[in-house]
Amino acid sequence: MSDERKEAVRQVAGELARHLAWLRDAGVREVPVPVPVMRRAPVPAPALSPAPALEVRPLPVAAPRPLAPIVEQGPAATSASQKGSGSPGLLAIRADLGDCRRCKLAGGRTTLVFGVGAPRAELMFVGEGPGADEDLQGEPFVGKGGQLLTKMIEAMGYRREQVYIANVVKCRPPGNRDPEPDEIEACEPFLRRQIEAVGPKVIVALGKFAAHTLLRSTIPITRLRGQWSEYQGVKLMPTFHPAYLLRSPAEKVKAWEDLKLVMAALGRQVAPGGGRPG
Ligand code: SF4
Repeated sequence: MSDERKEAVRQVAGELARHLAWLRDAGVREVPVPVPVMRRAPVPAPALSPAPALEVRPLPVAAPRPLAPIVEQGPAATSASQKGSGSPGLLAIRADLGDCRRCKLAGGRTTLVFGVGAPRAELMFVGEGPGADEDLQGEPFVGKGGQLLTKMIEAMGYRREQVYIANVVKCRPPGNRDPEPDEIEACEPFLRRQIEAVGPKVIVALGKFAAHTLLRSTIPITRLRGQWSEYQGVKLMPTFHPAYLLRSPAEKVKAWEDLKLVMAALGRQVAPGGGRPG
């Protein structure tokens, strides 16, 4: 094996070890089992007879057609702010948002953070609003909390790009304060439409604020988490926000319990091998 290959194998092994360490720290004692894929034996290709000689003729050239006029549809979105709008339904919502100024959060944002992921995902995560990293990159959950969310998603047996991630408000509240009622009122209709367009089977509300907004509740997240609710007829599971889990790693065990309920609701298998530690 070449040195380059050995180095690549070492890197993959290191990544895997870090991922397993995170799961162990989180109290995970079981991992999803991928469904085995049956592979068919390769069918031998039939012997080819010699190809007949081809006659080469020039193709007729069509007369150029006039181009349709371009219709101006409002301010163009930047490529960063167009992330997560990969279906006609989502594109229409993104187009309706345009260079949105419907609430005062518009004044402080760098990028409008629409959402990211599979346009028809069965699983959708909803957070509160973009932070500093998200505001710069135009994608939700890309900071340290986002990295933890990605690990949670992977621990459930998905890749990040197989789920859909969005926030209640699409612009960063200054100083990462909670969004205010008038800001939620202005922005939540777009989240509602995103949920309709994606059509997830399950929504996971990340943290107190997202859970309170979606459920119109003031019950503490410590009591909401782990209990099924509904939002627009879709099953909703509240759990802790990844940023909170970074500050309180002991709570990762409870978050994993919540995510296992989500996996069961989605028909995802969890391999036996013990439960969470006491
Ligand atoms: S938070 Fe929502 S409603 Fe407010 S400006 Fe941004 S996109 Fe518009």
